[in-house]
Amino acid sequence: MRLIRMWVQPLLTAMLMLYGLTSVASVTNKSKEIRVTGSVPLKLYVFDCGKISVRDMSLFDPTLAKGVSKELANACYLIQHPKGMLFWDAGLPDSLISKKGGVDVLEGAINFSVTKTLKAQLAKTGIPYDTVDYIGSSHLHTDHTGNLGYFKNATWLIQQHEHKIAFSKQATQYGFNPADYSVLKASKTIKIQGNYDVFGDGSVVMVSAPGHSPGHQMLFIDLPKTGPVILSGDLYHCITNRNKYAIPIWNNRHDTVHSFVLADKLLERTKAKLWIQHDKEQFDALKKAPAFYE
Ligand SMILES: [Zn+2]
Repeated sequence: MRLIRMWVQPLLTAMLMLYGLTSVASVTNKSKEIRVTGSVPLKLYVFDCGKISVRDMSLFDPTLAKGVSKELANACYLIQHPKGMLFWDAGLPDSLISKKGGVDVLEGAINFSVTKTLKAQLAKTGIPYDTVDYIGSSHLHTDHTGNLGYFKNATWLIQQHEHKIAFSKQATQYGFNPADYSVLKASKTIKIQGNYDVFGDGSVVMVSAPGHSPGHQMLFIDLPKTGPVILSGDLYHCITNRNKYAIPIWNNRHDTVHSFVLADKLLERTKAKLWIQHDKEQFDALKKAPAFYE
């Protein structure tokens, strides 16, 4: 019996892979060069997915003195494309709303809090979260994964490297919280290597930009009326850090410098607007869901 299982199981797995029936697929550089056409009718919604009070910005910019504080935003986004919907990053968990004063992390250097739930904000758009087709993760730090469980029916788009660490013993060392994303282990998953053209027409492209985490990525969105936008994940945490090319203490410096150069070239070539997901001043000026950008 055991002998049969030894032979049958690998054979079955091979057959399932052959017919594309396994839940995990691996993709390499599906997209071509990123181009701006503004030809696809897209809608982009912006959500408030929590607040981050940093009590020591030198963690994010080692040239600063210790103890400089700064408020950061924590944005999440939904892109509506004629072929489906992509949710980008899942913020701090809605459950944090019940914690008055939020929670301290990193020995009190950072405080996380939530004042409005993603669920309530999504309800105002009239889009049920379980109808979202794709969930994209810039990376898996806990301020980006809190509500991933809402999207377990969606296809998870994640860099292969990030996914590998997520389900390894090293996950927590990288600042990941497996409890946030373990439910997605059973979801359909596309593991990406390099860039990934989500809908196949160049309008929404994930751009590999490692450094802040091994599989960190940005999102290029070719909005027809607003013009192209790049959601920069955590390549930068605020506009001053971008201007200074500040590198947080946790980053891989080599990869981060490469990603800075890549982002600069992409911004210059496409003339895209850079939306820094944690920059509070920039975030406050954006219109929020149920309003949207086109
Ligand atoms: Zn973050």
